[in-house]
Amino acid sequence: MGGSGSTRWAWHTKKETVNECRILSIFDLKREGLLEQGTWQRGTWSWRDALTQKRTASLGYELNTQYGNAYFRVYYTITRWDGRKHDYDYKIGLQTTACNFGSVRWWFTCPLVTNGRSCGRRVGKLYMPPGGQYYGCRHCYDLTYRSSQENDKRVNALKRLGPMAILEGINTGDIDFIQGLKALPDDIWRR
Ligand SMILES: [Zn+2]
Repeated sequence: MGGSGSTRWAWHTKKETVNECRILSIFDLKREGLLEQGTWQRGTWSWRDALTQKRTASLGYELNTQYGNAYFRVYYTITRWDGRKHDYDYKIGLQTTACNFGSVRWWFTCPLVTNGRSCGRRVGKLYMPPGGQYYGCRHCYDLTYRSSQENDKRVNALKRLGPMAILEGINTGDIDFIQGLKALPDDIWRR
């Protein structure tokens, strides 16, 4: 099962905001007519560039809206910073609340587990930040956002050491491998 455990991120700049995240919106699913109660279906969900309409990303899904066991199961592959591909497959719980005139309103249950605690918040939107692995609610990623700012401070401190000292530190294990790599100049391997 996914969603659990890791919230380690390979942030590349410190200006990542919610706007730059990929957003999975329950309102979009509703608009596409997918959220009819008591059905089971599979398909592909795509994001398109607003201007060119080119597909920018997609995921496979299984959507179950049957009472008592509603979920949106997602499948996707992410190429991580090390170039390796990782497959993800996990269920995002769905909940309903009563609406006017006997209809229901659908929500996601945030699937993220941070520091051993499941979030479980009822939300309309889930976010995948750049460098992220799982879809999660804004609250979960605000926490991560703050810790990434701390991480950038450490990277900037490393930069002041210079490339040779950083490489040596990675070798000896004194410097965290990922933070060390991030602190190296982009063209270090071509020198
Ligand atoms: Zn959350």
